Amino acid sequence: MKFLSRKNEIEEEKRFYYLLDLEKQYKSSQKRLSDKELVEIFGPSKEMLLEKIKEWEKIGKIKENKIIEKLKIINSYKIKNRLSNFEIWVYQRIIFHFFLPELLNCIEHILRLKRLLFFTLPKHQRTYRDNFQEKIENARNKPILEIAGNYLSLKQIGDKHVTLCPFHNEKTASFYLYPQTNSFYCFGCKKSGDVIDLVRQLTGLDFKQAINYLN
Ligand SMILES: [Zn+2]
Repeated sequence: MKFLSRKNEIEEEKRFYYLLDLEKQYKSSQKRLSDKELVEIFGPSKEMLLEKIKEWEKIGKIKENKIIEKLKIINSYKIKNRLSNFEIWVYQRIIFHFFLPELLNCIEHILRLKRLLFFTLPKHQRTYRDNFQEKIENARNKPILEIAGNYLSLKQIGDKHVTLCPFHNEKTASFYLYPQTNSFYCFGCKKSGDVIDLVRQLTGLDFKQAINYLN
């Protein structure tokens, strides 16, 4: 009897996390503007973007230094044998869990701003790399339902599109496609990504080949 109730508890917990995941997925499926659209609509100037990049780089440097400082402290204790290996491991986890996400967030902002920078340049000033960047952007915006439809049989339930996951064995479909954000997510094996990731994983093409294929 006791065993049974514990089992229910686990089921309950599983369901809770499933719903939590679902909510997260729903929120992230709201339409996002592409980088090119953002530049076209809001027209940020090159100078403004460069300034913003500098600002974020400064913040990033501070966060990075904070992490390095803490890792150094841990390391000095390690050398003096004042902490056990387990304690060191725990402290490192704490740093990676609480401080690293802030730094990654900065890096993400910087990368986004740098991508926006490409689209403020007139076409003839762009380098081969910039043009490839535009190709990536084009590829990323190819409708995922259309691309996935070439390989998988999709079923529409409400505004969602589901199918059996091509990446793990399953009997009930838990592979979701989100046309709004052009992304996919499997509730079974947790694989996720954009349309480029999907093509790569379905076909085995490398990144460049997948970009060219989608273009
Ligand atoms: Zn899966």
